[in-house]
Amino acid sequence: MDTGLAGRTALVCAASKGLGRACAMALAQEGVHVTITARGAEALEATAAEIRAATGVVVTTVAGDITSEAGRAAALAACPAPDILVNNAGGPPPGDFRTWERDDWVAALDANMLTPIFLIRAVVDGMIARGFGRIVNITSGSVKSPIATLGLSNGARAGLTGFVGGLSRQVARHNVTINGLLPGPFLTDRLRSNARVAAEASGQDVDSLLAERAKATPAGRVGDPAEFGAACVFLCSAQAGFIVGQNLLLDGGAFNSTMG
Ligand code: NAP
Repeated sequence: MDTGLAGRTALVCAASKGLGRACAMALAQEGVHVTITARGAEALEATAAEIRAATGVVVTTVAGDITSEAGRAAALAACPAPDILVNNAGGPPPGDFRTWERDDWVAALDANMLTPIFLIRAVVDGMIARGFGRIVNITSGSVKSPIATLGLSNGARAGLTGFVGGLSRQVARHNVTINGLLPGPFLTDRLRSNARVAAEASGQDVDSLLAERAKATPAGRVGDPAEFGAACVFLCSAQAGFIVGQNLLLDGGAFNSTMG
C-alpha cells in the first residue's frame, strides 16, 4: 500500500527510545522527514543516526523536555509546520493516590494532557490551512481499562482523550485527523523498568514477571514496538482521513470486551 506519506514532515515527541522511536522509524520508512525529541542528547543522536542510515530521510534532533515550555518552543522552532504530529512523553510514576500532592497531579497533567494539547494548538491551524494533517496521541490502554497503581496516568490521559474527542470532530472536515494509539504491554525500557519495580516489590525476578505479563495477554506475548510504529503509519496515511477521534488499543486482546 502506498501511504502517500513520502516527502511529508513529522514532529515525533519523546522518540529516542521505545514507542516514539518506533513511530519515527516507521514514518521514516515511508519517506517522512522526521524531527525527533528527547531529553537525553546521546540516545537521541544515536537514534537519529539509525533512522538516517536505515531510510535516508532528513532527521532533525531537538534535545529537551517536551513537557516544558522551552522544550516545546525548541521542538516547534525546528519543525514549525509539520504534516504529522506524534504526541508522546514519559508516563507518570506508579504509586498510591494517598501520597500524591497537588504538584504530582500538576506534573502528570502537564506531561500527559497539557503538553499534547499545547502542541496541537501550535500546529493544527497550519494543518487546516494546508488541507492535510495527522495527529496521533500515544496514550495508554489505561484510558479504557484503568490500572490501579497508575492513577496519575489514568486521570491525565483520560482528560486528553476527552478533549481530543471534541476537537477531532471540529477539524476533520479539513482532512486533519486526531486519534489516540493506546499501548498495552510493549517491550520497551519503560516496560522493563516498571517490571523491575514490581519485581522488587513482590520478590520475583524480572524475567519471570515479564514472562507472566506476556502469558496474560490472549496473544501470549508482549508487543513489539515495530507493530506500534506500523499502526501509527496507518493512522497517518492518506487512506486514514475518515478515521476521526478514535482510540486504537494495541494490547494483544488483553482488554476483554465484545466491542471497542
Ligand atoms: P520508554 O521506552 O521509556 O521511552 C520513552 C522515550 O520518551 C525516551 O526516548 C525518552 O527519552 C523520551 N522522553 C521521556 N520523557 C520525556 C520528556 N519529558 N521530554 C522529551 N522526551 C521524553 O517508554 P515507552 O514504553 O516508549 O512509553 C512511551 C509512552 O507510552 C509513555 O507515556 C508510557 O507511559 C506509555 N505506555 C507504554 C506502555 C508500554 O508497554 N511500553 C504501555 C502503556 C503506556 P529521555 O528519557 O532521554 O527524555
